[in-house]
Amino acid sequence: MKSKKERLLLEMERAGVDKCIAIADSWPESGIGSNSDLVDLFEDCGNVYVIGGISPFKCFSETLENLDRYISDKKIKGIKLFTGHEEFYLTDECIKPVYELAMKHNVPVLFHSGWDNVKYGDVNVAEEVIKEYPHLQFVCCHCWYPEISKCMGLIKYPNIAFDLSSVADNEDILDKISAEVKALTEKIPDRVMFGSDSFGCSMEGHIKFVTDLGLVPDIEQKVLADNAIRIYGL
Ligand SMILES: [Zn+2]
Repeated sequence: MKSKKERLLLEMERAGVDKCIAIADSWPESGIGSNSDLVDLFEDCGNVYVIGGISPFKCFSETLENLDRYISDKKIKGIKLFTGHEEFYLTDECIKPVYELAMKHNVPVLFHSGWDNVKYGDVNVAEEVIKEYPHLQFVCCHCWYPEISKCMGLIKYPNIAFDLSSVADNEDILDKISAEVKALTEKIPDRVMFGSDSFGCSMEGHIKFVTDLGLVPDIEQKVLADNAIRIYGL
């Protein structure tokens, strides 16, 4: 785990990234890092913030209690649901305590989207919870990659934002993805956030992807920094 921390800090330095968010896995024993792994690992780093993970299938109530404590102590800034990686719907009854906890602390709920098993967190499913919890901030991770235009269906709801992690991963479809991301960003410049999914994808590559979009400087600054600072309360 320690070497991963060094690798991340080094990659940030190389890519010119001042601050980042590390997202924990939803399983207590994980190679990616569990909530407690990441909290411990980055406790002494003022520039790496942690988002917690939770799974309805593994140590749910224990994890919920831990998240409650970590969020109270400002060690965790939000909670990610791994819908699609895991077979549960965003609308499942068992997930409601996660939404309640996030509302209690006023932190965002992130959800995985795109690739395989899309149905668990697809636009229609996401819409249901976004409407049910209008005061809760949602973040759609990966913008339903590779179908970025799906995001447009939800922009009328002010409590959803989008993160660009992994979207620049495939050179072959980059033109199409760029056009769709640019259109989305220009439509809702305050609700699209940079993301890279480091180590799965390249931090530098994703920064280049955003700077190549040709956004006006003001909007580019929002995407690369300001929106995340505001949405995650960094
Ligand atoms: Zn994800």
